[in-house]
Amino acid sequence: MEGETMAKYTIKRRCGHDEVHNICGPVKDRGGKAEWLESGLCRRCWLTEQAEARQTTSVIAAATSKANGLPALSGSTKQVEWAEIIRAEKLTEISTHYAQMLEKWASMDLTTSQTEQIERGKVMFATGLAALKSESRAAWWIDNKDRPGRLIVKEVAEEKAAK
Ligand SMILES: [Zn+2]
Repeated sequence: MEGETMAKYTIKRRCGHDEVHNICGPVKDRGGKAEWLESGLCRRCWLTEQAEARQTTSVIAAATSKANGLPALSGSTKQVEWAEIIRAEKLTEISTHYAQMLEKWASMDLTTSQTEQIERGKVMFATGLAALKSESRAAWWIDNKDRPGRLIVKEVAEEKAAK
């Protein structure tokens, strides 16, 4: 029974490379699955394509950062390539979040104490963003890649204030 549900097939993929695939399920459906596999790249070519795409994204991010006056990142070539993308994404995320907050605050009827709190928030944001923009360690950006931008900006602002 089990032998009938799966079999190995050699598939010629779009890039021209042969790759062995296990295709499972009813035999009548296997043709469709094989065709679908034929339309894709083999694992190695797929990885190469991903790496090239990342490199391109990184080059664009680096050029944009440079144009915006951000410092060059330091670290290994691989780290820098990755961190350029992370830095660009985080800074965009933070700016977008801040713009949304400004919009929200503008639409609110604020008390004096709320206005004061918001003013402190704006100072915090400006301090944090300035600190982030001067952060040039690729490893730092990689370490923080999964953390929400609004937390990062708050944290670096607090670090800056504590100094
Ligand atoms: Zn291939």
